[in-house]
Amino acid sequence: MFEQEVFVPQEQTPQLEALVAVACMAAERGWATATSGNFSCRLSHDQFAITASGRDKGAVTVADLVVVALDGTPLVPDGPQPSAETAVHAGIYRLLPEIGTIVHTHSVPVTVLSQLRASQGAIELSGYEMLKALAGVGTHEHQERVPIFANTQEPATLVGELIRAREAGPLHGFLVERHGLYTWGRTTDEARRHLEALEFLLDCELRLLLATKGGA
Ligand SMILES: [Zn+2]
Repeated sequence: MFEQEVFVPQEQTPQLEALVAVACMAAERGWATATSGNFSCRLSHDQFAITASGRDKGAVTVADLVVVALDGTPLVPDGPQPSAETAVHAGIYRLLPEIGTIVHTHSVPVTVLSQLRASQGAIELSGYEMLKALAGVGTHEHQERVPIFANTQEPATLVGELIRAREAGPLHGFLVERHGLYTWGRTTDEARRHLEALEFLLDCELRLLLATKGGA
């Protein structure tokens, strides 16, 4: 049972079930190890649901979601606490009103590649057929920029970096150095597709880098 169902209309249950399915998929693929990562979806113009802190993402259920206001504050103060990175999700929802779902993973390829490419400040993806999985992209000739931000325990710093990075054009996600990937979508299905596509593309980039330069 959803612990805070008083705040969630019944018709939104399938959306929440789809969200926890993405979290389980990410854990199964090794992208959310040791309770890391967090997954959220917008419930209304001023509320969203996010995975509670410290939950095993491979066993997460709808009962492990916490409803928070758009400033990241839980609606039930003495209930389960939301993820420590809730404020980043809140900032992205405030910045991008069209977004319905945000996912954040900690895969090995992204963690390594974000370090190897940190000095460039971004990863440029082009020529991959998989780019067409990103919303609005119709050709492999597309140039996709994935910015890399320095890691921080200050969510507002990451959101500020995102605001600046978007001045150069729309984004489908960003990396945090030696930390992980944030991506999103208008729907949970779209966010799941972006997650799978970006993890695939960034894993390809890492393998190519290691194959051609030995990682140097
Ligand atoms: Zn994280």
